[in-house]
Formats: sequence, structure tokens, C-alpha cells
Amino acid sequence: MNLDPEYYIRGALDGDRVALSRTITLIESSLPEHRRCADTIIERLLPHSGKGIRIGITGVPGVGKSTFIDSFGTFLTSQGNRVAVLAIDPSSRRSGGSILGDKTRMERLATDNHGFIRPSPSGRTLGGVARKTREAILVCEAAGFDVVLVETVGVGQSETTVASMVDFFLVLMLAGAGDELQGIKKGILEIADAIVINKADGSGLERAQQAAAMYERALHLLAPASTNWSVPVLTCSSLEETGLQQVWDTVNDHRGVMTNSGEFVIKRQKQALDWFHFLIEDELQSWFYNHPQVKKKLPELKRSIEEYTFSPSGAAAELFALLKGSQQATQRECNNE
Ligand code: GDP
Repeated sequence: MNLDPEYYIRGALDGDRVALSRTITLIESSLPEHRRCADTIIERLLPHSGKGIRIGITGVPGVGKSTFIDSFGTFLTSQGNRVAVLAIDPSSRRSGGSILGDKTRMERLATDNHGFIRPSPSGRTLGGVARKTREAILVCEAAGFDVVLVETVGVGQSETTVASMVDFFLVLMLAGAGDELQGIKKGILEIADAIVINKADGSGLERAQQAAAMYERALHLLAPASTNWSVPVLTCSSLEETGLQQVWDTVNDHRGVMTNSGEFVIKRQKQALDWFHFLIEDELQSWFYNHPQVKKKLPELKRSIEEYTFSPSGAAAELFALLKGSQQATQRECNNE
């Protein structure tokens, strides 16, 4: 793999899609030399990023996320926008995250000159996948994409993770048989900036409208996340491509309101700081568990905890004491040299 940062930086800034794909592949690598090169690239691209509208999209499997993104994305490109689609799917249940899998899910956007689809990065932990996706957002923006859609299938904490990296969080819902609220994952309404009932077409139109009214009532009972924004409930048909203009208008209204109130800047700053803290914690954790002394001592301590012969807090304190001891020893060696 080419490890000259200039190649990737120039390629991304020129909007060269091949170079853009390669940059994201580099970012996704966990090899230390790739990581170092990726860090340089991100650093240099950072001043060119930030101008895009970042939209998170979630919903249960079958709600129509792929169809919606294909239709909404194509609608946006037809208006002259450049649209990138990234996905967070830590479970990788879907098609193993293969390029073909994601491209066939969104056929029109995949062949659209103004579209760019990147399949979900593989990774065992949500944190790892989230890190790659955050960096991919920056790279896509630096490459001139105006809208970045981040899709998640909603496993575990992935919705909150996506919400923490976007400007607007859209929750796709289905009209059910009167038990809609049961399907709502706890906390999802609190992080939604809009709820969109999909499949509002044919015989499902009336049910979608009823569901929208019901969600609106439910939302009234919740304290709004922002005093400046009340979460709208919209309906759309991704198949018939209706309601997409209203979704886009809502995203832009939100952007306007948040910008005017100053919340937009504060939110982006908070997201950057949260990311910084996350990276520190992530790095500390892997450093800690990979430390030779910890690795050696851990199995024995775990056994003692399981057998109730040693308290968890005592065991943790012992590991830290070991690390502090080893650091002091290293410090003494350095001073004696
Ligand atoms: P995902 O699992 O959330 O990505 O959902 P898909 O986009 O794969 O859609 C699941 C099924 O719902 C497919 O058979 C779609 O054709 C269908 N579907 C998606 N959007 C609509 C819609 O707006 N109206 C109708 N009637 N069907 C839809």
C-alpha cells in the first residue's frame, strides 16, 4: 500500500473517487504504519472538512433504509448535491459488509456520478467502527461531498454513536398494527431530530398517517432535547418517492434554527471533544490490557475474583500499583543512564 500521505491528500481534495476510496481503506486499517499515515492525512484534511450536512439514519431492518437512502440520495444529487453514504453496522450481519452488498442495496446512487457509497467497515467493536466512520466523514467532506448520510441498523448502542457524529438524526419508522410504540427502542425518540414514517403509499397510506399522528402525541409527552426545535413527524414513500422534499426541507430548517441559535457550533464542538475523550479512553484501555505485566497477572487475578478470595477493587489496585512500579523503574533506569 502507498504510504505517501500527499497522494491521498491531493486525491481527496481533487475529489478523485479512487483516491477517496483508498484513503478510507487506509483509515480503516489498524496497522501502526497505516495509522500514522492516516493521522497525517486527517490532520491535513481537517481544515477542508466541516462544511457538509451530516445526517444519521436509523430504523429496524425492513423499514426501508436502503430504499430511502437510494431515493433520498438520488433526489439530493438531482438538485446538484454530492452525496456520500457511510454505514455503521458493528454486527456485520448484512452481507459481510461487502461492497457488492451495499452497492446492490442502493443501485441508483451507486451508479450516480454525484454519489459515493462506502460499505460498513468491519470491526469487532462499535468504538472501532465508529472511529473509522468519523474519520471517513471528514475525508468525504474534504473531497467535496455536501451531504453525508450515515446509516445504522440500530444494534446495541449504535444509534447513540451515530447521533453523536451527525448534525441531524432521522429515525425511520413503520406503521404497525396499533402497537407502534412497542417497537421503539428506549431512548430513540430522545435523540431523534425527525421521525419519518416510511411506506406511506398504496394501502399503507392511511395507516402511515395514523401512525404519524400517534407519534406526534407521544413526542408531546417528552421533554425536547432542544428548546429551539420540536421534533416533526413526517411520512414518505421511498418507493414512490413522495415526501422526500419535506424531509430535505426539515433538515434545512433544522440547520437554520440551530445555526441562528448558536447550537450548531456548540454541538459540533462538543462532538469533537467527546471524540477526543473517547480516543483517549480507547487508547488507554488497549495500552493497559496489552501491557506485559498486566497480561501476565490478569488471569490469576480474575480467578481470585471469581473464587471470592480477592476483591475486584483490590485486584484493580494491584494492577495499577504494578504499572506504577514498572514506570518508576523505567524512570530510574533513564535517570541513571
Ligand atoms: P432496510 O432493511 O431497512 O434497508 O429495508 P429495505 O430498503 O431493504 O426495504 C425492505 C423492503 O421494504 C423492500 O422489499 C422494499 O422494497 C420495501 N420498501 C422500502 N421502502 C418502501 C416504501 O416506501 N413503500 C413500500 N411499499 N415498500 C417499501
